[in-house]
Amino acid sequence: MFKNWLIKKIDKKIDNVVNRFKIDLSSYDSGIIDYALIDQNEINQLRGVSYPEFIDRLKKIVEKNKLPIKFVAIKDFKDPDRDFETDPLGYKIYTLELGNPDATHKIVIEGTCHGGERIHSLTCAVVALSLCKEGPLREKILNSSHISILPAADPLGWHKKTRAYVNMRGEETRNPVVVNMNHIRNLFGWSDTNSVFGRNLEEAKSERIRSIEKHLLEKFGPPTLYTSLHETVMFGSHLFYGNAGIMILLHHYFPDEIKDILFSLHYALTTGEKVDKLLRKLNPLSDLKYTEQYLEYHPAFERAKSIRNYIKRLGIRTFEDKFFRVERELPFIGPKSEVTIAESLLITGPLFVKAGIVLAPDYYEKTSGSTGYTIETFSQSESERVLQAAAFIDGTLRCEVLREYYE
Ligand SMILES: [Zn+2]
Repeated sequence: MFKNWLIKKIDKKIDNVVNRFKIDLSSYDSGIIDYALIDQNEINQLRGVSYPEFIDRLKKIVEKNKLPIKFVAIKDFKDPDRDFETDPLGYKIYTLELGNPDATHKIVIEGTCHGGERIHSLTCAVVALSLCKEGPLREKILNSSHISILPAADPLGWHKKTRAYVNMRGEETRNPVVVNMNHIRNLFGWSDTNSVFGRNLEEAKSERIRSIEKHLLEKFGPPTLYTSLHETVMFGSHLFYGNAGIMILLHHYFPDEIKDILFSLHYALTTGEKVDKLLRKLNPLSDLKYTEQYLEYHPAFERAKSIRNYIKRLGIRTFEDKFFRVERELPFIGPKSEVTIAESLLITGPLFVKAGIVLAPDYYEKTSGSTGYTIETFSQSESERVLQAAAFIDGTLRCEVLREYYE
């Protein structure tokens, strides 16, 4: 009871902060995303509903308003005539398709890759419903792209409010997230569902993963843009990351020699380093020290930066340097799994690369050359998490499809 009261109080406080920004997002329609659709009551209700109920509610809204959204169930990879069903409970995995099937942009928006992180199933719904509204920008996007929204990649994880792990025989189990158990899990070959996509043997992936993969690559796609929406729900994370803002991970294929250079460079974090970076920029003879300086004018990085700048422009908080500064002060820093390249922008780092860990967006990038993004949202207020992720999709469609640019 006390916890609920506290959450409500904090939600309200943050909503007040959000509303104080230049644009009042609670009644703002950007022309792509209608932020007024983000409703705290709806979010509170989502906490209590089951996966089939969530899909049913969405279907009813679509039918009632005759919206151009197709509910496509993912087929079983072993039998293309049958819908894939989870074992147990027999849940089907649905995608929401909209836009032009003949378009060159094939866009995937994935929510609830990790079952316990279900707030972005709601973001997926907000995005789908927003895109059905009238307006020239939406028309342009829907004419030039075909969009597949996967609101919950793991319905059983949704059900158990936890995440899936897959062993080398392709069997899935669902456990609460315990960071310190990672090495034990690895010993038995259990790994996080998101990293199973990179396994060389198809047989070592689970049937659910193989069915999703086959659907996105062969039936819908292959994707040209893959976005994966996450939230941090680990116990205690709110104490440290409470209102850390939105973090964007750019999955981009850099050749090995460029990767080596990137991992040897630094992110200008302190004021001293930022001044140093500026001075180096003014002096063409200075040697290379900072990642951002090296990647300047790189098209993939520039677009990612532009998406981040758009999000900031809406008055939405992005992942702040202070968290990196705290990390740097910690005495037990291990190998980095991600490398910071600019404020709130990261790429997969040495740990991922050395261990050969390939996440879903990397996998689609490798197989179909798509651009991949993962976002992490941390805010205590769930409405703000949805807002952040919706703004990310807003910015991504602008920069990747409409080729807008934000300084
Ligand atoms: Zn996640």
